[in-house]
Amino acid sequence: MKKPGLIPTVLSVAACKAARAALRRTGRGGTAVPGIVAMKVSRNILTAVSEGMQIIVVTGTNGKTTTCNMIEHAVSSSGRDCLRDKSGANLLHGIASDLICSADWRGRPTHPYAVLECDEAALKQVVQYITPAAIVVTNLFSDQVDRYGGVQNTLKEIRTGVERSPQSTLVLNAEDPLTASLALHVPNKVIRYGLAQSIGVQGNVDLADAGVCPECGAPYEYDYHIYAHLGGFRCTKCGWRHETPDISVTRIDRMTAAGSTVQMQVREAGGTENTLEARIALPAVYNIYNAAAAVAAATAIGIPAQTAADSLASVRSAFGRMETFDLAGQRVQMILVKNPAGCNQAFSYVTGMEDDYTAVLCLNDRTGDGHDISWIGTTDYEKLCADPHLRKIYAGGDRAEDLCRRLEQAGAGDRLERFTDYTALVEKLETEGRPIFLLPNYTAMMELRDALGKKTGSKEFWE
Ligand SMILES: [Zn+2]
Repeated sequence: MKKPGLIPTVLSVAACKAARAALRRTGRGGTAVPGIVAMKVSRNILTAVSEGMQIIVVTGTNGKTTTCNMIEHAVSSSGRDCLRDKSGANLLHGIASDLICSADWRGRPTHPYAVLECDEAALKQVVQYITPAAIVVTNLFSDQVDRYGGVQNTLKEIRTGVERSPQSTLVLNAEDPLTASLALHVPNKVIRYGLAQSIGVQGNVDLADAGVCPECGAPYEYDYHIYAHLGGFRCTKCGWRHETPDISVTRIDRMTAAGSTVQMQVREAGGTENTLEARIALPAVYNIYNAAAAVAAATAIGIPAQTAADSLASVRSAFGRMETFDLAGQRVQMILVKNPAGCNQAFSYVTGMEDDYTAVLCLNDRTGDGHDISWIGTTDYEKLCADPHLRKIYAGGDRAEDLCRRLEQAGAGDRLERFTDYTALVEKLETEGRPIFLLPNYTAMMELRDALGKKTGSKEFWE
């Protein structure tokens, strides 16, 4: 897009800042409105305010927020000044609000770097206005609302975005055949990241989302599995296959509730190979994936892999993603679960604990969550219920009845207790006497956060 002239730029930036200030004064975190207003004043304002910036855009189903956090931390740790919106607004106008409000009054960027979380369907719009230095795609899984076939549409939308930004370096998950296929038939430079077979991780295998080879339509075979449809895939007919990643986690030395220590094999731009050690200050296998993505993204904008890897030791969790609270001396960890793949990963994580724990499961079916909750039928609650360390399950939310039925079927037994009131739940949890994992979906997380915030004094989400 052509950049607007100075006067429309000045007016548009002023409108954006005024709208945001007005919203903040009324105590609302409305994130899209300032962007809408600014783009009404000048359609191409985003092109002006992003000119000359090195922008990394992160999209994909799971891990976007945490990966953004890790990249931003890596960029900042390397001494570069990086913009990162903390509001989680990941649609065009929300992204616009953040970029435009951060510009100076003449519309010039005040940060040379930015990391933007972008909804999968919004990528193709966003890249019409800005030219990312890198586009990171974490993975693709069915969301609850599109359990059957929808993931292929999502892939198509991301591909359209990629085709509109041939200059951007693609940073792709090497083990996800859907994500990996984005490198086919495009001129973009590609950096792949992944987990090697040698780490010895095998989660639950679910190939429903994998689809077939995009080149010839034949099914895949796998040399190894990581979890769901991620792994060492190869087409049984034409030979298209998983490629060895440029950033590969080759060994997990230690994994605890506080994080993990891993070894990464890194192929630098000149082709030289390096082995790095990284301590990742967030737990679970999926955060090792996010960490590999972050290191790969950092190298895409010229940050040494070692610098990025070192920064992972001090990264903090994003809102709702392994966020840890202290509640009356007990460790409480919040894990947002929004789809079957994410839910199964969360179960893998909590069932890997060596201490007894309590789990709180909440299921809402509002617009932010998806109205279709049929995915709970195919999610591995059996794995959770089979864990002897799971001592108590509280289940609640709009669809508590369905959730309880599913948990009973999965073998929850007399550990299961239904709750209806979040404040009463938090009061109960205060005397639980063991670590607590909270596994809500999106709007339920907001309610839980409210109830917990009263006790722990947490900040509002847009701060
Ligand atoms: Zn093929």
